[in-house]
Amino acid sequence: MYKLISLALAVLCMVSFPLSVFAKETMHDEDIYERRMELYKQAEAVSLIPWYYFAAIDQYERNIRLVRRDLPKAKGVLGIYIKPEIWSGPLNKNQNDTNPFTISQFGGFGMDGNGDGVADSTNDEDIIFSMARFLQSYGTDHEHLKMALWQYYHRSKTVDMILGKVKIYKKYGTLRLDTHAFPLPLHANYTYKDTWGDARGWGGRRIHEGTDIFADYGVPVRSTCYGIVELKGWNQYGGWRVGIRDINNTYHYFAHLNGFAGSLHQGQIVEPGMIIGAVGSSGYGPPGTAGKFPPHLHYGMYKDNGYAEWSFDPYPHLKIWERMEKIKRKQRDRK
Ligand SMILES: [Zn+2]
Repeated sequence: MYKLISLALAVLCMVSFPLSVFAKETMHDEDIYERRMELYKQAEAVSLIPWYYFAAIDQYERNIRLVRRDLPKAKGVLGIYIKPEIWSGPLNKNQNDTNPFTISQFGGFGMDGNGDGVADSTNDEDIIFSMARFLQSYGTDHEHLKMALWQYYHRSKTVDMILGKVKIYKKYGTLRLDTHAFPLPLHANYTYKDTWGDARGWGGRRIHEGTDIFADYGVPVRSTCYGIVELKGWNQYGGWRVGIRDINNTYHYFAHLNGFAGSLHQGQIVEPGMIIGAVGSSGYGPPGTAGKFPPHLHYGMYKDNGYAEWSFDPYPHLKIWERMEKIKRKQRDRK
């Protein structure tokens, strides 16, 4: 358990760093987003596959890379990492091969995208071009791209996460979807403290994987992020609960709800501040059980590393989002 906690702490430190720490230090965030979009559009132009598929794959991989120590840091602005044996070809004795001809002879993934005669696995243009050609070999429509993703990752959760991002990027048409909101309206009466990791008795020995925000029945519960509703329904611990997957592979979990927002459904795209349900006390029993504890929102955050998912402490994030919203509100009031 302690291993898990220290792992989660390490991850938290990593995810809280600003984007610029991991990307080219000389570039500003705005330039990085612009350059990425340029690369996705280039890939679209050569493959006829919409740019948001490339954006989704890249965003998934970037976030995997941020939480994994076994993967090297990206040299360019893209997050996609292709293993040497895949890039050069599984039977290629030269795992650092950059010759497009010999790579293709060995069935490698790597190609020359920028016309310099070299297939460089750390070059953004070569990476995105190689990915475009790989996907294109399956087809350019959604169903075939889904198959290509399955062939590439062999993990349905990964494919689902990427397809979720495809939907989100397609809807908003921008890469800048990092804003967050506090889960309850700031004008509501609520209290919360850091209880992550505390013991929980009901249903055997468990640790508390989240923050409890105490408020009255019926106080609106809002999405904390841009994301997609991955799950909605009953769970014996969480009662009526909603799970939202954001564009950083993070899963946001809202439990003990009184009920859901009328139209809320699985696969729906949500944005920060959108009402998804209301505070309640459901859970700790079969469907419909309520009132076994005071009404509160249980809010949890989980991170995926491409193999597994684990819980980390949402409290510091809640504090930041709450403060950011207060600042924004003040700025608005002054105008
Ligand atoms: Zn809780």
